[in-house]
Amino acid sequence: MAVNGTHWTPSTWRSKPAKQEVIYDDEASLKKTITKLNILPPLVTPYEIQKLKNELRECALGNAFLLQGGDCAELFDYCNQDMIEAKVKLLLQMSLVLIYGARKKVVRVARMAGQYAKPRSSPMETLNGVEMASFRGDILNSYEPDVEARKPDPARLLDAYYHSASTLNYLRGALSSGLADMHAPLDWSLGHVVDSSVRDKYQQIVSRIMDTLEMMRTIGLDTGSGLETVDLFTSHEGLLLEYEQALTRRLRQPQNTPAASQPQAQVTSMRQSSQPGRKVNGTSHSSAYVRKSSVSATNPLMSHYNTSAHFIWIGDRTRQLTHAHVEYFRGIANPIGVKVGPTMPPSDIVPLLDILNPNHEIGKIVLITRYGHDKIKDHLPAHIQAVQNSSHNGTVVWQCDPMHGNGRNANVTVPGTEGTSTIKTRRFSDILSELQQALLIHQEHDSYLGGTHLELTGEAVTECVGGAEGLTEEDLSLNYTTFCDPRLNEKQALELAFLVAGFYRE
Ligand code: PEP
Ligand code: MN
Repeated sequence: MAVNGTHWTPSTWRSKPAKQEVIYDDEASLKKTITKLNILPPLVTPYEIQKLKNELRECALGNAFLLQGGDCAELFDYCNQDMIEAKVKLLLQMSLVLIYGARKKVVRVARMAGQYAKPRSSPMETLNGVEMASFRGDILNSYEPDVEARKPDPARLLDAYYHSASTLNYLRGALSSGLADMHAPLDWSLGHVVDSSVRDKYQQIVSRIMDTLEMMRTIGLDTGSGLETVDLFTSHEGLLLEYEQALTRRLRQPQNTPAASQPQAQVTSMRQSSQPGRKVNGTSHSSAYVRKSSVSATNPLMSHYNTSAHFIWIGDRTRQLTHAHVEYFRGIANPIGVKVGPTMPPSDIVPLLDILNPNHEIGKIVLITRYGHDKIKDHLPAHIQAVQNSSHNGTVVWQCDPMHGNGRNANVTVPGTEGTSTIKTRRFSDILSELQQALLIHQEHDSYLGGTHLELTGEAVTECVGGAEGLTEEDLSLNYTTFCDPRLNEKQALELAFLVAGFYRE
C-alpha cells in the first residue's frame, strides 16, 4: 500500500530505528504468540473507529470537547468490575459537568482496556541493592522486583489481549445495561471540602445539573435521547509495535457512518458546522485539502485499522519524524494522538502532520500538549502558530495534558520506620494552572482547546497533593497505589471538571 506516495505496510516500521525498543530473548515463543494474536478477532471495529473520528472532527471544529482519562499504567489486576465501574462513572460525571460548563457535546475516551505499555526514562533501576530492568507495563514485564520477572515475556502480549477483551466486554455490557444511566444516583460529594465557599459553588452546579436531568424526565425528553446509555471509546499509548502490528487489519471502511474521508463532504460540513463555533481558515485550508485528498480517493473501500483500541497515541519519547513509531502510525486509519512536550521544535510540527495526516482529515490528529505549568506559555503559542500558518490549520484537535509536565518528587516517611523515601507526585494547583493557561492561550490565539487528557482513577488514592480536601505530602503514604505516575483521585478529578466548567461560565 502507498501512503503519502511511499510504500507502507503494517511492518515497514521494522526497518526504522526505534526508541524504547524491546528485545525478547525467546524468539520462538514471540513468533508463536504473534501467530495467535494475528488470528484473534479485532477488539474494536472500523464502524466504531469511524464514529470516534467523526466526533473528533467536531472537537477540531470547536463544536465538542474531548475528555480522555484513566490510569498512567493500567495493570491486568485492574480488570475487575469495581474498578472498571468506578472509572466509567467518574468519566461520566466529569463529562456532565463539562457539558454543563462548556455547553458542548463531550466525547469520552478512556485510557483503558489496553494501557499496558510504559515508556521509561531509564531502562534499568536498582531495587534493594540489585540492578534490574525497569517495569515497562504489564504487557512487557512484571512489576515484581526480581531480575527474572523483569525480563520481557512474549506470553504477556496474549495476556494483554485477553485483559483488554475482558475489560471491553464488561464495559460494553455495563453501558448497555444502564451503568451510565444518568437518572441513577451518583456520588457527587467532594469529600471534606476545606473551603466552604468552594463547597457552596459546587453544590450550586450539581443542583443545576440534577434539575436539568429532572426536567428532561418530567417532560419526557429523556427516553430515547441517549440519556440511558453513552458512548465510551478506548485508548492507549501505541508503544509496543509488535502488539499494535499484530492487531492491525485491512478492513472495509464502514459505509454507514458520515464519511469523514470524503474530501468534498468534509470541507462542506466544516464550513457549515463552523458557523456557530469558531472561525476556520476556510480558503487556504480547504483548497489544500481538496488538492491533497485525491490521493486517498484511489482506494476508497479498504483501510488498515488498528483494532486494539479506537484511539492510540505516540508518546513524547517516541515521536521522532524518521523513527519506527511515526512510520507505523502514518498508515493506520484510526484517529491518533501525538504527545507534544517542550522538546518539540515548532518546525517539526508541520512535517509531522504532513506525514501522519497527508489527506488533511479534520479531527484525525489530536495534539496532546504537555509542557508543565511553568513552561506552557513559552511553547504553546509557537506550536499553535506553526499549525495556523500551514495547510493543517483547522484540522487538529488541541488537547491539554496538564499531568506530564508537572511531575515532582516528595519525601515521605515510610510508615512504621524512621526513614523517608522519595515518591512521585503532582500538585493539583499546577495541573489546574496548566489547564487554565491552555484555555486562555488558545482563546488569545483565535484557536480552540478541544479537550483534556488526564491521569485519574475512580479510587480514593492519595497520589497528587492539593484539591478541595487539601491533601498534603504527609497524606501521600495513606493510599499511594500507582505503579507509575501519580493520578488524580475521584474527588480531585471531579473538582478539576468543576473548575474548568467555571472557566466557561465566568
Ligand atoms: C503517559 O501518558 O503516561 C506518558 C508517558 O506521557 P508522555 O509520553 O507525555 O511522557
Ligand atoms: Mn503517565
